[in-house]
Amino acid sequence: MRLCGWLMLFLGIIFSFLDPLLSQEDEIYARRRENMVRRQLAARDITDKKVLEVMGKVPRHLFVGPRYQRRAYEDYPLPIDEGQTISQPYIVALMTQHLKLKEGEKVLEIGTGSGYQAAVLAHLTDKVYSVEIREGLAKKAAQTLKKLKYSQVQVKWGDGYFGWEEHAPFGAIIVTCAANHIPPPLIDQLKDGGRLIIPVGSTLYYQTLTVLTKVGEELRVEHILGVRFVPMVGEAQKREGK
Ligand code: SAH
Repeated sequence: MRLCGWLMLFLGIIFSFLDPLLSQEDEIYARRRENMVRRQLAARDITDKKVLEVMGKVPRHLFVGPRYQRRAYEDYPLPIDEGQTISQPYIVALMTQHLKLKEGEKVLEIGTGSGYQAAVLAHLTDKVYSVEIREGLAKKAAQTLKKLKYSQVQVKWGDGYFGWEEHAPFGAIIVTCAANHIPPPLIDQLKDGGRLIIPVGSTLYYQTLTVLTKVGEELRVEHILGVRFVPMVGEAQKREGK
């Protein structure tokens, strides 16, 4: 009993020292995030106030491994597990801006990765669906999102080439891996007036970030800029040569 009391006292003292240190760390990251928004996003062409606000809120450093946390707010992509990458903050913001999401609209993401982009989307609508083909990444992202209280995000392990039929149609679809063609199921699952953003081109080299808007039977196409994403695997690769 006495030993237990001493132990509690000891732990109490340790935690009272750790607590301010931890909140100091939160503050440091919050400041880095602010700088990121100002220098990398607002100073370029991210003009949507909501997108800027959201990018200033989501703790990107908690979506990467400990050795990359300090670099989480720099102007480049970062490695996550299984040889995949989390996009540069500017690209996340730019893609989100092009989705023109309205509150309550359903959004589908292909390529959950770390879950960071899904968390950004979750601040803009409460209906976020995300598909990830690598089981380990899908599980880990779901855990991270749950821990950070993004309960409005649903993650599924599967091939995103086929979209997520049971929740279609979507107001917006964002593909965060590269394909040499646009998967037809994704176009089918877009509602009238819906927007789809995807890097299309050579999966080995560069792609063009492309936005499609469905207007009745018609698809309006807009090319945004040259990018480099990890390839979409699974069905997309099987059909690549065909
Ligand atoms: N949006 C992520 C980063 C994505 S990296 C983030 O914010 O962290 C691209 C991801 O697409 C990888 O995790 C990769 O495993 C996944 N991917 C590749 N092909 C896929 C497919 N056919 N269906 C679903 N996910 C796929």
